[in-house]
Amino acid sequence: RAKQGGKNGVRTFQPAMGQDTLERAAMEEDLRAAIREDQLVLHYQAQFDARTRRLVGYEALVRWRHPRQGLLPPGRFIGVAEDSGLIVPLGAWVLREACRQAGEWQATDRGLTMSVNVSALQLEDAGFLGTVQDALQDAGLPPGQLVLELTESAVLGHRGNAAGQLAGLRALGVRVALDDFGTGQSSLSLLRQLQVDILKIDRSFVQDAQGAAGSGSARVLIDAMVSLAHSLNMRVTAEGVETPEQHALLSEMACDSVQGYLMARPLPAGEAAAYLHEEEHLRSDRWGAVPGLE
Ligand code: C2E
Ligand code: MG
Ligand code: MG
Ligand code: MG
Repeated sequence: RAKQGGKNGVRTFQPAMGQDTLERAAMEEDLRAAIREDQLVLHYQAQFDARTRRLVGYEALVRWRHPRQGLLPPGRFIGVAEDSGLIVPLGAWVLREACRQAGEWQATDRGLTMSVNVSALQLEDAGFLGTVQDALQDAGLPPGQLVLELTESAVLGHRGNAAGQLAGLRALGVRVALDDFGTGQSSLSLLRQLQVDILKIDRSFVQDAQGAAGSGSARVLIDAMVSLAHSLNMRVTAEGVETPEQHALLSEMACDSVQGYLMARPLPAGEAAAYLHEEEHLRSDRWGAVPGLE
């Protein structure tokens, strides 16, 4: 309830009255403008082969260059975008821009992948398949180089035929990754039904797996996830790798790819492109030695 004439005669809103709702409404308005006015930017985080340390791809992560609040991380606005439905045009922009960038980098690359995060609402959208097709075509990017990252909850919360939609995408040749794996309602039968190409082990497991203080159970779980994925013909990416010990452990456990602050932070396109040219021995120096690979 709004207070009638507060202490200083200023009307204040009680939180219960929806300060939050007002802020979200304002943000929704701002976000609508942001999509129109080109305030969104993508940062790219490089992904590497766990064993050879070769660059294998990038993940596109959206940011919002807010006119008053500076550069906002996705955690600050993706929720509003999803609740308002703006995630559909926002996501379409992300797809087009990421594919365009990948197409540009392809001139100098070796078949690198571009991973793009996709929300449930986008997947449910009837136009999604067409959006993906157009983005690929306009960028001249081979479908096999695009990876769509979905969370388990995005797939499980899908109100339509998620398996059918994913099958349609895979029929285009696009690859599908299950993001943050292990944190949701992971169902083994879901994995079989969906025919996913890549499992991304959530960083909470990676972070718990390290050191004497780290839990042995996190290691056992990573090991189990890798075995499961490989037996189902999937590749495994570990996210949130921050230390050489974690990288060594994941490499020993036959994780295929690694991604994390140890190797590379998400960076603006210009800086991320540096990894296209960086020599592997330079990376070896920074990551530390890996047992069994000299
Ligand atoms: P995600 O897809 O799981 O992305 C990984 C997040 O972990 C990114 O945060 C990344 O910056 C962060 N990260 C990477 N390496 C490390 C590390 O070594 N340590 C730690 N502590 N963090 C690391 P970011 O960019 O803030 O994105 C957060 C989430 O927002 C993403 O999680 C994804 O779910 C969502 N998101 C980002 N971009 C998009 C997008 O274009 N569309 C949609 N629908 N969601 C997006
Ligand atoms: Mg992701
Ligand atoms: Mg993730
Ligand atoms: Mg995550």
